[in-house]
Amino acid sequence: MEQRNLLQSFEWYLPNDAGHWRRTAEAAAYLAELGFTDIWLPPAYKGNSGIDDVGYGVYDLYDLGEFDQKGSVPTKYGTKQEYLDAIEALHCNGLRIIADIVLNHRMGADYAELVKAAKYAPHDRLRKLKQKKIKAWTGFRFPERRKRYSAFKWDHRHFTAVDWNALTERNAVYKLMGHNWAQKVDREYGNYDYLMGADVDFSNPEVRKELERWGKWYLETTGVDGLRLDAVKHIDSYFFVWWLKVLRKYRKEDFFAVGEYWNSDLGILLEYLERSHRVMKLFDVALHFRFVEAAREGAAFDLRRIFDNTLMQREPEFAVTFVDNHDTQPGQALESFVGGWFKPLAYALTLLRQQGDPCVFYGDLFGIPHDGIAPVRELEPMLRARKQYAHGGQTDYFDFPNVIGWTREGGMAVVLSNGGDGWKTMKLGMPGQVFVDALGNCDGDVVIREDGCADFPVNGGSVSVWVPKF
Ligand code: CA
Repeated sequence: MEQRNLLQSFEWYLPNDAGHWRRTAEAAAYLAELGFTDIWLPPAYKGNSGIDDVGYGVYDLYDLGEFDQKGSVPTKYGTKQEYLDAIEALHCNGLRIIADIVLNHRMGADYAELVKAAKYAPHDRLRKLKQKKIKAWTGFRFPERRKRYSAFKWDHRHFTAVDWNALTERNAVYKLMGHNWAQKVDREYGNYDYLMGADVDFSNPEVRKELERWGKWYLETTGVDGLRLDAVKHIDSYFFVWWLKVLRKYRKEDFFAVGEYWNSDLGILLEYLERSHRVMKLFDVALHFRFVEAAREGAAFDLRRIFDNTLMQREPEFAVTFVDNHDTQPGQALESFVGGWFKPLAYALTLLRQQGDPCVFYGDLFGIPHDGIAPVRELEPMLRARKQYAHGGQTDYFDFPNVIGWTREGGMAVVLSNGGDGWKTMKLGMPGQVFVDALGNCDGDVVIREDGCADFPVNGGSVSVWVPKF
């Protein structure tokens, strides 16, 4: 099976200047040259905060920067035409597009409705506190779109819950009368169907029909090649089984999908894979938290166990590995940024391995100016080395807690240390062949001995990627 190399092509604090699609198009050749195969673009539809919306506060799924809604025609990233142009530029460079799909909730309704609702304890969604009449922002008419692409209007019949009562101006979890919590969702808070905004009720047949119509429209309009599914733990697992089947019938059987199930517990990720009939891969959240832990513990962490209890180890075919993302970066909802010194090691452990489809975070490749975070210096040379040498069989030398290494048949030796300076004796290439560190962390050459092995060095708290010298 082909190993993909994804780029998450955005971070949270990109400028709100409607220029990102244009810049992405300009970067297309460079991204292809680095060896990426798939570019995950941010949510492309109009959010509640208009041009300031990162895209997860969805208002109108049909407004890809085309209608004057929420204060502007373009989204944070640009206009619909610029989005389509960026896709074309990426396609022309042989890159596939992965679209970010946010279906769990809607924000910024056009009008509020008086409805009966039950208030729930915020941390126990199975404990009903009281029933009352509330004013809920659940009416979506999209007046500026004027029924273009779809005449569907949303109201309280299509949503399970809201978190705001406009009568009392109070915040709480209010489940609307006539709706039930979805059953096959994450069990945190007893039932984690509700996340934010107006929570979509996927058990409503009108909703499913409309999302089928939208899915086909979106694929046809944009020509994207795969999907990144947002917040899947808050959506009944049967929904995506059905929806992806419909889209694959319409498009193609092997249409790519990866789900964001935010939980570090491998057991729960495996359970979701089964419940969703393996219709999608999952981000390896368990591995992300192993990296967080390893960065925090330093030399006390046993590197031989870095892959323990991860999707990458247990279900490599279904693991999309990553180091950080727009939610884990500083200041964000799931902040758990991997410590800077460990980032190059973590990237080696995803990009240069045979298992999983690695996904690089824009903020690591290009930096996060908002927080004064510089690009991970090793990332670019590592991507180039990956493209050229990270092929074929893999031999592991996970035999010492603080220094581990592996080789790839394509002609690469990787050594990591979370302690002091060290080396790893590994077999690679032909006697007399000379290797250099593609990352420039270690100076000097390594020459393969008569026995076919060499001692590949590494600096303390660092990684070296040894590739043939020319
Ligand atoms: Ca939900």
